[in-house]
Amino acid sequence: MAVKAQVPGAVIDVQHYIFALQLTDADNNIKGQATVGVKFLKNADAFNLDLVKKNVEGKGMLVSAVTENGKNLRFVQDSGAVKIYTNAKTGSMHSYKVSYAGVPADGLIISTNNFGHRTFFGDNWPNRAHNWLPCVDAPADKASVDFVVTAPDHYQVVSNGLKIKEQQLPNHLKLTHWHEAVVVPTKVMVIGVAAFAIDHPGDAGNIPVYTYVFPESKEAGFKSYAVAKDILPFFIKNVGPYSYEKLANVQSKTIFGGMENASAIFYFEESVTSPGIEELMAHEIAHQWFGDGASEKSFWHLWLSEGFATYMTNLYLENKYGADTLKKRMLADRKKVLEFEKKRLTPVVDSAVKSDYMQLLNANSYEKGSWVLHMLRRKLGDDLFWKGIQNYYAKYRGSNANTDDLRREMEQASGQDLKPFFNQWLRKAGHPDLNIGWHYDADKGSVNISVEQKQDNLYEFPLEIAINGELVHIEVKDKTTSAQILVKTKPETILVDPDVNVLDSFNIAAQ
Ligand SMILES: [Zn+2]
Repeated sequence: MAVKAQVPGAVIDVQHYIFALQLTDADNNIKGQATVGVKFLKNADAFNLDLVKKNVEGKGMLVSAVTENGKNLRFVQDSGAVKIYTNAKTGSMHSYKVSYAGVPADGLIISTNNFGHRTFFGDNWPNRAHNWLPCVDAPADKASVDFVVTAPDHYQVVSNGLKIKEQQLPNHLKLTHWHEAVVVPTKVMVIGVAAFAIDHPGDAGNIPVYTYVFPESKEAGFKSYAVAKDILPFFIKNVGPYSYEKLANVQSKTIFGGMENASAIFYFEESVTSPGIEELMAHEIAHQWFGDGASEKSFWHLWLSEGFATYMTNLYLENKYGADTLKKRMLADRKKVLEFEKKRLTPVVDSAVKSDYMQLLNANSYEKGSWVLHMLRRKLGDDLFWKGIQNYYAKYRGSNANTDDLRREMEQASGQDLKPFFNQWLRKAGHPDLNIGWHYDADKGSVNISVEQKQDNLYEFPLEIAINGELVHIEVKDKTTSAQILVKTKPETILVDPDVNVLDSFNIAAQ
């Protein structure tokens, strides 16, 4: 069963959206009619939908009417919302129609692609959907969605879910209706409207996988994007069922390298010839489980999306290319985390960020989040790690979770108290910074090792050291941890963390 989440204090829980949109080549004005199905969580005589109002530059949306059952309702618009006056009791269901029009200031990007052709691409992350869609623009209010797009008939329209209707209209117009039956957050609700060449490279089980690329990119894109059908099965097998009706991989004009829109992933234009396309696809496809399926309750817990997508990509690549690939990537990721911490020292769960969530697209959310999962996997072992991940996904699929929800699932799967682990890695800034000294005691035939934690917050973690090629585990805990290791011969070399299993920095010196 999905556990329901909402924005704390919310008056409404949106059940379903129908966005009917008219697009034209004449200008960048869009006309919309949003049907918003709402369940009231409180008695209310008014409620808000997020919507950016037309500004002095002429960008934004003007609402012309709000109705319920054909009856006009009073409404007022401020810069970021339309307030709708109604009369609703707790638990009651209502359906409102909001008619509006305007030039999107953001969110729906109307522009020209590399080939000089006009395109329309939704780009909503983190809360830019309300530039073009009246909605509750927060990840905790998930809803199912229909897009019914009327556009010039030389365009193809791709969106979330299933295409249930495509109809030629007079005056060279075409209506395309997509229906997403699964609840998704607004950040991943989209349309892509362009001239597309479409391919169906195959299925993953019963999930059809499609490629949408600009016709000029057909040759390269049909080939490079086809790898998606080999990526899906890895996550289906290891995490759980794919949630949506299909997967379309779409060449687009997103401001991001890739954007994990539910079942219609958007990739940057040059991605069709990018050598990094496989890892980019693995990342965005992993998000279909983590971010789209199980979504963070708020952006403070963004690592549940980005850290997961980053580590799941590493796991996919490890499975396909071997353990050395994982080691190399964890090494590179560790470097990124340490570099980032020099610029900004904050915990992964960064509740200091109240708006401007773009700043959370950083090495803490991605690489450090990934590193936490890596260390958790090493701590629990592969079987319990995957069991916990599968349970977490099964419980929060179609819903929302925060960091403690994940911790509880991992604790239940493993029988371990993971509070100290989650606290030190996710709730505190920084990392262990180690001074490691060693000397060989010829009389005792031992190597004496001391590990000093230089930073203030002390961490507890196992440190692996290879002496004469043999792996030794040292439980680091106190300000200084000492260990005496018996050896047969004087070591030539001592290697710290040879398998790259700890997020730390260190120096080592013979004493
Ligand atoms: Zn991502």
